[in-house]
Amino acid sequence: MTEHSFDLVILGGGPGGYVAAIRAAQLGWSVACIDENEQLGGTCLRVGCIPSKALLESSERYHEALHGLAQHGVKVESLDLDLAQMHRRKTQIVKTLAQGIDGLFKKGKVTRFLGRGRLDGPGSILVTSQDGELSLTAKDILIATGSRPAPLPGVEVDGDRIGTSTEALAYDRVPEHLVVIGAGYIGLELGSVWRRLGARVTVLEALDRILPGMDLEIAQAAHQIFKKQGIEFRLQTRVQQAVVQDDRCVVRCEDADPMEADRVLLAIGRVPNTDDLGLDRVGIQVDRRGEIEVAENFATKVPGIYAIGDCIQGPKLAHKASHEALACIERLAGGYGHVDYNTIPGVVYTHPELAAVGQTEEQLKEEGREYRRGVFPMMASGRAQTLGETDGKVKILADAQTDRVLGVHILGARAGDLIAEAAAAMSFGASSEDLAHLCHAHPTLAETLGEAALALHQRAIHIPSTPRVQA
Ligand code: FAD
Ligand code: AMP
Repeated sequence: MTEHSFDLVILGGGPGGYVAAIRAAQLGWSVACIDENEQLGGTCLRVGCIPSKALLESSERYHEALHGLAQHGVKVESLDLDLAQMHRRKTQIVKTLAQGIDGLFKKGKVTRFLGRGRLDGPGSILVTSQDGELSLTAKDILIATGSRPAPLPGVEVDGDRIGTSTEALAYDRVPEHLVVIGAGYIGLELGSVWRRLGARVTVLEALDRILPGMDLEIAQAAHQIFKKQGIEFRLQTRVQQAVVQDDRCVVRCEDADPMEADRVLLAIGRVPNTDDLGLDRVGIQVDRRGEIEVAENFATKVPGIYAIGDCIQGPKLAHKASHEALACIERLAGGYGHVDYNTIPGVVYTHPELAAVGQTEEQLKEEGREYRRGVFPMMASGRAQTLGETDGKVKILADAQTDRVLGVHILGARAGDLIAEAAAAMSFGASSEDLAHLCHAHPTLAETLGEAALALHQRAIHIPSTPRVQA
C-alpha cells in the first residue's frame, strides 16, 4: 500500500478543516486534507450556509417583486418564477467558492485526498477511495468531520418526499404543503424560502416556543412576524412518525390528528460525524451526544490528535469551526490561540433576521445576575423607515453594577451584519455606555444599537424616555 507522510493530516474539508489546512500551510508545514466529497467546503458550502443563503436571497427578491415593490411606486406587470434558474445560481455560487478553496490549496501546497478517512492507530490514517486504499502518517492529526442532520425515530427519511435540509435546498418544484419538523434556525430559514415561493408551510415544534436558545422576547416577536408571513406553527406538537402513504406524506404527532403534506423537512438539529472514524481504535472518547471531548487547546486524550468544529461540543456554526481551526493551529505552532465562546454570534437569516451574541435574558435570570436592559424598536429608526424594514428591535443587556455588556439580541433587517458591532464590543469588554458613545453614521441601522445602549440609561433620543438627571 502507498504510504505518505505529513506534518499534519486533517480529516474533513469543511470550514473547520480547510481553514486549518490553509493556516498550517502558511506556517510552512506539510499538510494533507481528506474529504470524501469532490467539492471542498464541507456542509457549509455544499449543503448548508451558502446554498441556503443563496435561496433565501433569491426567494426574498421574488417575494419583494410580488408584494413589496408597489409601495415604492415600482409596477411589475408580469412576474414568473424560474426555479431552475434559482437553483442554477445557487449551484454556480457553490462551485465558484469550492474552486476558490481548490485554488488556495494549490497555492498553499496542501495535498488533497478524495476519499473516506479513518484513524488506523496513533499518527496513522487510512484513506479509502475509488482507487483503493492508501495510508497516511502524520506528526499531528486534526479531526474536523462535522455533522449531519439528526434522525428522528419513526420519520422515514427517503431523500425525496421526506428529507432533510439537503433535499429542501433542491426541491425541483414548489411544494403545495411543506411540513417542517423543528422550529430551529434551519427549519425556519428553509421554511421561509418555500413559503415565499408560494408553498403552504406548517412548522411542528415540540416545545412551547420557536428558536430555543435564542432570547425569548426576540424569538416571540419573530414568531408573530413569521405568522403574519403565513407560516403556520403548531407548538407543543411532538412528531412521532412521518411516512409516505399513497403518494402523500403522513405526519403523526402526539395528541393531534395526522397531517398530510407533499413534502416533509426534518430539521431537529444535527449530530456529529464521529462514528466509523476508528476513534475506538486509538482510544478517543465521545460524550453521550457523540461529540469528541477535547481540552481547551482542542487536544483529545490521545497525544497528537485534535478535534474542532461540529464534531466537538459547542454551537454547530461554521464561524465557530473556522475560529477553532485558527486557534488550534496557532496553539500547535506554539503561539496564542483562543476562542471566546461567549462572543460567538448566532444569526437566523429569515426576514427579518435574528442575531444574537452573549447571554439571553433567561440565562441571566437563571444565574441570578442583576442586569439592566435597553430596548430600541426598528420602527423608530430613520434608516429602517427608508428601507421599509420597520419590524423588530434591538435589546442590550448589561451588568447592573459594572455596565459591562452581557448580551445583545437583534430582530430586524440585516441583523446578521449589525451583530458584528456588538460582538466586537463584547470582545473588548465594552460597557453599554461605550456603545452609547460610539458615533454611528446617519442614517444607518447601526444607530439602533447606539439608541438601545442609550435606552439602557433612559437616555434614548428617538423614543420617549424618562431620563434620570445626570451631571
Ligand atoms: P462540515 O462542514 O460538516 O465539514 C466536514 C466535512 O468532512 C464534510 O465535507 C464531510 O463530508 C467530511 N467528512 C466527514 N467524515 C469524513 C471521513 N471519515 N472522511 C472524509 N471526509 C469526511 N452555520 C453558520 O455558521 N451559518 C449559517 O448560516 C449556517 N447555515 C446552515 C444551513 C444549513 C441548511 C445547514 C445544514 C447548516 C448550516 N450551518 C450554518 C452550519 C454549518 O454548516 C456547520 O456548522 C459547519 O459546516 C461545520 O463545519 P465543520 O468544518 O465542523 O464540518
Ligand atoms: P435546532 O436544534 O436549533 O436545529 O432546533 C431543532 C428543533 O426541533 C428544536 O426546537 C426542537 O425542540 C425541535 N424538535 C426536536 N424533536 C422534535 C419532534 N419530535 N417534534 C417536533 N419538534 C422537535
